[in-house]
Amino acid sequence: MRSAEVRIAGVMIGAIAALLGATYWHAAHALARPLAVGWGYGALIVLGGAACAALAYVGLRREWGGRNRRLVEQVQSILHTSAAAPAEGEYQALIAPLRGHMEQLRGKVEQLQLQKKNLEIQLGLAEAQRRQIHAMIHGISDAVLISDKFDELLMANPAAGEMFRFQVEASIRKPLLGLIGEGELAAEIAEVRQNHRRANRRTLELELTLGGEVRNFTVSLTCLVEESGELGGVVTVLHDITREMEVSRMKTEFVSHVSHELRTPLSSIKAYAELLVDGEATDEKTRQEFYHVIQGEADRLSRLIDNILNISRIESGMMRINKKAISVSGLLKQALEVAMPTAREKNITLVDQVAPVFVQVEADRDMIYQAALNLISNAIKYTPVGGTVRVVLEADELASNVTVKVSDTGVGIPPEAMKHLFTKFFRVEQHKGMAKGSGLGLNLTRQIIEHVHKGRMLVESQPGKGSTFGFVLPIAT
Ligand code: ADP
Repeated sequence: MRSAEVRIAGVMIGAIAALLGATYWHAAHALARPLAVGWGYGALIVLGGAACAALAYVGLRREWGGRNRRLVEQVQSILHTSAAAPAEGEYQALIAPLRGHMEQLRGKVEQLQLQKKNLEIQLGLAEAQRRQIHAMIHGISDAVLISDKFDELLMANPAAGEMFRFQVEASIRKPLLGLIGEGELAAEIAEVRQNHRRANRRTLELELTLGGEVRNFTVSLTCLVEESGELGGVVTVLHDITREMEVSRMKTEFVSHVSHELRTPLSSIKAYAELLVDGEATDEKTRQEFYHVIQGEADRLSRLIDNILNISRIESGMMRINKKAISVSGLLKQALEVAMPTAREKNITLVDQVAPVFVQVEADRDMIYQAALNLISNAIKYTPVGGTVRVVLEADELASNVTVKVSDTGVGIPPEAMKHLFTKFFRVEQHKGMAKGSGLGLNLTRQIIEHVHKGRMLVESQPGKGSTFGFVLPIAT
């Protein structure tokens, strides 16, 4: 028997002895006399049983305590062994490939995390670039359309939306044809898209009718070709050159008009000078006549050059303007005086209806004088002999302006010519034989009144009856 079992048997015997002793003691106490062995032996049995039981219990606790300790030590040793050293046998064989897989997976996860970070950076960059391109395209005043390989709109700027009258945001991914129409432009874009392998960029000039208006454009078409050779899209930029073409046409016209206008008086001067040099003018009277023609043509030439220079100075903003408070009545009287000899030559009555207006206008006196003289000269020029020219000045203090009107009883202006009157070099065809002119006077007058002084030109005419030209200027405050 092992010591543990001996100790258990001891405890049990002790317990039984203690129990017997206790029973004896109790029975003797209940009968109030000692049974067979007497009080002394009874007490001895009880105490001996209790002592045996106590000794056996202590031994047993010690035994169990030792067992528990050994068990804990064994578990700890197992745990320690499995954490520190590789498992052996089957366990080791099972763990090894798993560990390999785990290592591979860990590598892959790290790789994927790196890739994810790179992609996030690239995505951020691409988004920033997209926003930059968007902002750049939005800022361009030319119309920009970007379409894909299916001819659907990818991007457009407000200028394009305005030009073709579509809502940019709502039109993305819509067919281009529906937005810009089936005209020449759509055909050019389609052609560039189809032949994208041949040429990457094309520039052409197109005339487009937009909102019923014909406009000219320089169109640049660029193919966006991907690395694979696939077409990414077509970028179409439309630069409006209508104004440039108009200006260039006007310049050409202007130069040809000016040379023509200069040539006429110059030819006259040259011809009369040659006659004088050749001694063709034999008497003094003829010579004086020739001198007068030359002088008149030279004056015309000088006026023409002055007009051209003044117009171009005003248009370019180079004209020196000396504005101050002036009285219009004074300068009108002066212009009437200057025009009087010419009127008298044609037996034209010059009627002075210039009211003694005391209000003043803020203006450049020389320029307003020039404008008034142009109107009076024209009225005399285009009024047949014996007619009347009336110069009127009125002030409207309520409306805070003054009005100058020059009315004549002249030939009048055909209705179809009215809208061209202020165009440079325009002359009414029927009037060309009536008086010499350059067609610059009215243009200069309007530039002076409307451009320089922020006033307004007036014109009324009845063919065969006469015309009224005039201008309104704001009163100086
Ligand atoms: P110009 O008199 O040198 O031809 P203007 O610019 O002053 O040039 O006038 C342009 C045209 O307008 C003139 O050629 C003429 O046909 C017409 N015109 C101007 N004033 C009158 C007028 N008072 N009556 C009739 N026609 C006029």
